[in-house]
Amino acid sequence: MNILILHGGVGSPGTLSPVLNKYAEKAVKKNAIGSVIDSVVLMEDDETFNAGKGSYMRIDRSVQMDAAVMIPGNFGSVVNIENVKNPVRVAYDVMARSPHNILSGDGAVKFARLLGYDDYNVKTEKAEKKYNEIIAKIKNGEIKEFDEMKKNFDINDLIGDTVGAVARIDGEFAAAVSTGGTPLMLRGRVGDSPLPGSGIYCGENGAVVATGIGEEIIKKQLCYRIYNEIGKMPLEQIVKNKISEFDISVPVGVIAVTRDEYSIYASKDMAYGVKTF
Ligand code: ASP
Repeated sequence: MNILILHGGVGSPGTLSPVLNKYAEKAVKKNAIGSVIDSVVLMEDDETFNAGKGSYMRIDRSVQMDAAVMIPGNFGSVVNIENVKNPVRVAYDVMARSPHNILSGDGAVKFARLLGYDDYNVKTEKAEKKYNEIIAKIKNGEIKEFDEMKKNFDINDLIGDTVGAVARIDGEFAAAVSTGGTPLMLRGRVGDSPLPGSGIYCGENGAVVATGIGEEIIKKQLCYRIYNEIGKMPLEQIVKNKISEFDISVPVGVIAVTRDEYSIYASKDMAYGVKTF
């Protein structure tokens, strides 16, 4: 059986799942990598999600995005890229057309421009509104200093609607992810999504993508540690075990596929779409 799975980020309402099912239907291609990229592009172009158009703003009002793609034995990502429509496509080009695996900041933007990606404004009213809510909290004294961010902030305010996709098609695996990060971020902050092993992993035995607070996911190398256990017990159990290692206050979601199983699991609501064929 071939399968493509999409997620709309931990914290995204389940009511969005029918939209993601439609995207899965539309994005499915002959191969796994084409399917996950097109899935993520559809979600980047949908302002509902915190990726591409609709990405959250940083504390300095800039929008910096992370995206990654992975297939067995190869990886590409962009870190803190700005003003491009589809960061996931640039991540694929880093993997396929550059001598590198990861490009960041102005270097990633320059690379994108060289390849013909136009300057594109990803800011939306929704992101503006979210930003104003965050700043109001800071001004109200709810967050006094940056080093008090962790202590004083409601974790639910940090959850983004990052997007991701995994696929197994004709025995081949691929994973892709894209995010505007978490709503409260310093400029330059890097989450788990563009880091192999943290927010994404793909090898000969499967593909895994995560969503949640990047800082926590990085510390646990979540996706690689799930991948590494494939075959030792049912996939659903592996995913649940690893998610249960997080503090109860930290919502985490994972989608994963192996040769004969798949798993969609989150400790909070998470919209998802599935296409099997
Ligand atoms: N993992 C993303 C990040 O920390 C956010 C999310 O998945 O909601 O950048």
